[in-house]
Amino acid sequence: MLLIGIDDTDSRQGRCTTHLAYRIVDFLFSNGYDLEEYPFLARLNPNIPWKTRGNGAVCIKVDVDMTSREGEHVMQVVKDMVASNSMLGYGANPGIVFLDRCNNNIEPIIKFARDALWRVMSLKSAQRVMEECKEYYDGVSIEYIAMGNGQGIVGALAAVGLASLRLEDYTFEVIAYRRHEMCGMPRLIDETSVIAMDKATHPYTFNNYDYKHARVLIAPHGPDPVLFGVRGDDPSMLIDALSMLKVHEPLEGHLLFRSNQGTDAHLANMLDASNLKAYTSGYLYGTVASEPVAIEGGHTFFALECDGRGRVLCAVYEPTGLSPIAQMLSIGDILEVGGGVRKGTSKHPKVLNVEYIRVVDLARKVRYMNPLCMCGKRLKSEGKGKGYGCKYCGYRVKDAEKVGVDVPRHLGLGLYLPDLKAHRHLTKPLKRYSIKPGSMRLDIDWFKRYMYY
Ligand code: ATP
Repeated sequence: MLLIGIDDTDSRQGRCTTHLAYRIVDFLFSNGYDLEEYPFLARLNPNIPWKTRGNGAVCIKVDVDMTSREGEHVMQVVKDMVASNSMLGYGANPGIVFLDRCNNNIEPIIKFARDALWRVMSLKSAQRVMEECKEYYDGVSIEYIAMGNGQGIVGALAAVGLASLRLEDYTFEVIAYRRHEMCGMPRLIDETSVIAMDKATHPYTFNNYDYKHARVLIAPHGPDPVLFGVRGDDPSMLIDALSMLKVHEPLEGHLLFRSNQGTDAHLANMLDASNLKAYTSGYLYGTVASEPVAIEGGHTFFALECDGRGRVLCAVYEPTGLSPIAQMLSIGDILEVGGGVRKGTSKHPKVLNVEYIRVVDLARKVRYMNPLCMCGKRLKSEGKGKGYGCKYCGYRVKDAEKVGVDVPRHLGLGLYLPDLKAHRHLTKPLKRYSIKPGSMRLDIDWFKRYMYY
């Protein structure tokens, strides 16, 4: 079996690595090769500044005898296809990793992949991991091809690692591709059919439509060849979803991917508040240490004291829709917050850009007021140290003190997620919290049948 990892073939001007995967799978099926399972669409650390869009990379597992010349042939075709279908020279730095796994446990690659979900990984570290595998793992053959500055190798290796892992949670996405001549034209997808599909497939598909902002979420906006992608937990439900959508253009085809999208995989690690690293993703646990401050634009900032490990400034941006929640926080509230670390500057410290808030405990909020009079009205202070008097009944008292009155908290305990339009590819949507990850369907004939119209 050969694992093929590919990344960084596109740029903002066009193309898409998943579309290249579609073309490669089409070549493989047309030439009689079988896949071991669905192609894997890996989403890696979304806080990497040099990503094009969603930091995606792909891995295809193909059943090919690597001791024969066929293995060489498949590898050569893939190299040629990547070279001729990439935006090389326009910002793409493609990387391909070929791993002939021979049933070995490739722990260093898996560790690299897990790290690439939340940290910044260097090209050198990817190369080192591959050299280590060649040296210490008998029978493992690994080859990589770097184009441009070679950074694509990082994503390609991470995709191979994630595809070989027994993930606890995963989802699927069916992506439909436009014909070349349509790329750059408006996407004509009937909005009512998206809503109908969303309702008919609930809760097994997610992020199809944002009802709050009346917005279709399945279609991107750039010049790339993706017409739309429907995500969910059940592959056959996704195929049904395809037939429910009304689109007014001919398609090139579609491909079903298994993926770590919608699983919060990038937020699984607790960040070290005493040593925050720029561009990492994860979560923090702590106590609100400053009253939230709202600034122009509707963004909210507050400090989180992380159990003696340090104080972190948390930023909740307006487009997430979480700002009104953050404004209801108060000093002493206990929270878990997930997100990505923004680089510090000479003027500003590092900041956690918040992607979710889990309110674990609410502090008692008390306001100190003048005591009540026996007549039921509130007493008035007669000046410092002079006691209180009632202007209604004339009652006077010298040694009374202000009393604490509980301020009602309008915030409930629990999880607060961003608005759908602000979800990252990896954000676990609310409806998935009640779903057990489905069992993977490995019937390749079924899969092949649905690749073509
Ligand atoms: P698209 O979503 O359209 O496929 P993209 O957002 O995936 O595009 P790429 O063009 O693939 O963007 O660029 C991402 C680059 O970042 C790749 O070179 C990839 O190898 C690299 N990369 C991915 N994850 C990490 C990481 N954790 N550390 C360092 N580099 C990374």
